[in-house]
This record gives sequence, structure tokens and C-alpha cells, in this order.
Amino acid sequence: MNTAAVAAAPKPSHMKQNEAVQLYFDRAADKLGLDEATRKRLKMARRELTVQVAVEMDDGRQETLVGYRVQHNNARGPMKGGLRYHWEVDLDEVRALASLMTWKTALVNIPYGGAKGGICVDPRELSRKEMERITRKFVDQIHEIIGPDVDIPAPDMGTNAETMSWIRNQWEKYHGFNPACITGKPVEDYGARGREEATGRGVGILAFKLLKRLGRRPADCRVAIQGFGNVGSHAAKYMHESEFKIVAVSDITGGYFNPNGLDIPGMLQHTLKYGSLKGYSGAESISNEQLLALDVELLVPSALGNVIREDNVANIKAKFVIEGANNPVHPLADEVLHERGVVVMPDILANAGGVTVSYFEWVMNRQYYSWDLNRVRQQLDAVLSAAFEDVWQEANTHQVSLRTAAFMIAISRVKRASELGGY
Ligand code: NAD
Repeated sequence: MNTAAVAAAPKPSHMKQNEAVQLYFDRAADKLGLDEATRKRLKMARRELTVQVAVEMDDGRQETLVGYRVQHNNARGPMKGGLRYHWEVDLDEVRALASLMTWKTALVNIPYGGAKGGICVDPRELSRKEMERITRKFVDQIHEIIGPDVDIPAPDMGTNAETMSWIRNQWEKYHGFNPACITGKPVEDYGARGREEATGRGVGILAFKLLKRLGRRPADCRVAIQGFGNVGSHAAKYMHESEFKIVAVSDITGGYFNPNGLDIPGMLQHTLKYGSLKGYSGAESISNEQLLALDVELLVPSALGNVIREDNVANIKAKFVIEGANNPVHPLADEVLHERGVVVMPDILANAGGVTVSYFEWVMNRQYYSWDLNRVRQQLDAVLSAAFEDVWQEANTHQVSLRTAAFMIAISRVKRASELGGY
């Protein structure tokens, strides 16, 4: 036995994010019978850029930050992916998220590849002016490799519509007017109606479709949602309006539980007023770990990565898990859930609503035209329904999990585009 090789192999429980994505890739690649050379080409990023972001802070201090843009694959079109400002951002995480974008855009069949960017910084400690300076400096460093036909950034954790306006303005200083260079912009600044709600709404749409396929009614489905930010709150709103029984939600301040169903409109108002759920008194307080272990039919992790792991998967009682967040289930826990018959809808399908409406925004920008909210919602429903049906059929045909099926479809599409276009 080659002990060096064994020692070098990553222990699944200590797996880094990118290794986890590669593992999901390999499970699907095994089913597709992909050879090693093809796997290597499809897994590796086309380009990884690390840049220095040197800025002056409000107090005159010089700060030097690290920024990344990873462009994973462009076989199907310009690369697309968010920009994250978070203190845990590193190259491994950006790499993982960039490749997830390739598989996500291929799965929902929009003409994009995948990319991701980020800056290692705590946005809570920055003033608005500091955020703007950092963003503009970052664009100075990467403007040559992004653009409407090359790589189109969008918001992610720590960035928002205003950040996208700064990026557009800075990029246009070099390249001229072209709002399609970035998506997730404010509606009044070439943004799309319905972009903000799109990811959470998509989670709700897909939850509805899954239940329908399983012959269940929303009213008989108790739901727990971790995270009440952009994704979690809009998912809660849509599901509440669709008569799901939401018994628990949480944010960074803790969990809130009512076995008879929560007053979601009241909780949305509370968050709007106070910025978080802290102080909400209409429910029993529970911890985030307790929320994950509740006796519910549907669990929707919509906050962080890696929250369902080897050490807590035994506590999960839900029959279905819909991954609102990216990478919330560790691969080892995923295996356990699959063996127990728990249906997990993977992130590359479940949270694809956001990139889908980003695509609509890009289409509108290129046509100098604006769709109304109804049209955006109808088209979102159509794109996600088609992707759901594809995944459902593939899973049944090959008797694999929804995740493996989703990766099989996405990998096949990217491989075919690569063959048609030449590697
Ligand atoms: P957000 O910042 O708007 O909200 C995050 C929520 O998680 C907040 O309610 C926050 O309080 C909560 N949270 C933070 N730390 C927590 C903790 N330790 N325990 C419990 N809750 C905690 O972010 P978002 O845009 O809603 O994104 C959430 C996830 O969804 C991320 O993984 C993101 O990459 C993914 N995602 C987002 C979009 C999008 O369009 N926003 C699209 C695809 C994927």
C-alpha cells in the first residue's frame, strides 16, 4: 500500500469546500463513465486571479486586502457569478463556488459559464465610503477580465445592488456605457424587477413542485428555514403564501418556533424595522442547532455552508431538504441522508432562481428594454420547472439522488458544448 498517498488523501470530514464539490462531480462523472482527461479539463478553472486591493481607510490608515476572481468555465457562454465580501473568503472557497456556478447555469440551461469573486474583508466593519473605495479599487484590478461578453459579476454575501452600481460605474470608465457588464443592479439603474426575491422565490417554487411530485399538500408540510436574509425571508414569504406551515425560522440571532405555524408577515415586518429577528416575541426561542433537528417534513438551510455534517446528521428528522444556501450539506452527511431515504434538492437547482433572473436582467439590458414583474415571475417559473423536470427524470432513469442527477445533466451539457466549440 502507498502510505504516502493514503496520508495525502483528504479525510472527508476535513474536506475543503472545493474538494466537496469535486466529490459530487466525480460521483456524477462515474455514472457518466467520463475518462480522466475529460474530468481534469472540466474540473480545473480556466483562470484564477488573485489581486492586491490597497485602499486608504476613513481614518487615514493604509489597508491591503486580497481579492479573487476565479473563472471556471466558458464553454456555454460568458462566465457568471457573484462577488462575496466576507472574512472567510479564500481561494479554495471562490474556486468551489465558481465551479458550482458552471454546473448551476448549465443545469437551468441559460447561456453562461461559471465564475466567482470575493474579497477577504469583514463588511460589517466598513463604512459605506470604505466599501465604495474597496469596490472601485478591485474593479481597477480586474476590469480587463470582466465584461458583458466575458464574465458578468453579481451580488453575493456582503455585497448588494449599490455595490453593483459602483462596479458598473467604475468598469464603464474604462470600457464605455454598458449596463449588461453587471447584474443585480438597483431597479432604477438598469436592474430587473423581481431580482431581489428571485432566489428565495425559486426555493419556494421548487419546494411546491417537489411536494406535488411526491403527492403531498403544502398545508400538511411543516417547514423549518435556517437563515432569514435574502434567500430565507423570500422563501418563507412565498411558502407562507402557498399555504406551507412554517413552524420555525432563524437568523444569526437565534431560532423562533411555533408548532402551530409562524406569523411570517409579522416576522418580515420585524426584520424590516429592526434589521434582524432579534427581539421577536411571537414565538418560542430555540437555537440554530435545535432548528435543524426539529420534527418537520421540510428543512431549508438558507444561511451558511456545511451546517448539516457528519456529527449532527443523525439528529435530522426532516424527510426533505432543500438547499437554499450553497454547500449546506457536507458530502458525508449527504450520503447518510440518501441512505435514509431523505430527498435532498441540491443547491445547483434549489437556489438557481437568482442567476436565472440575473440572466433576464442581462437580456433586458442588451435590448434596452424592461420586463414587468409578472413576466419575470412567469419566465422564472418556466426555467425552474423545466430544470426540475429534467432532474426528476434523470434521477428516476438512473436511480440516483437528485444531486447526482443534477450534476450528470450539467456535466453532460458542458462537455457537449466543449466538444462542439473545441477545448
Ligand atoms: P444574507 O446575508 O442576505 O442572509 C443570510 C442569513 O443567514 C441572515 O438572516 C443571517 O442572519 C443568517 N445567518 C448568518 N450566520 C448565521 C448563523 N451562524 N446561523 C444562522 N443563521 C445565520 O445572505 P443570502 O443572500 O440570503 O445568502 C444565503 C446563502 O444563499 C449563501 O450561502 C449564498 O451564497 C446563497 N445564495 C444566495 C443567492 C442570492 O441571490 N442571494 C443566490 C444563490 C445562493
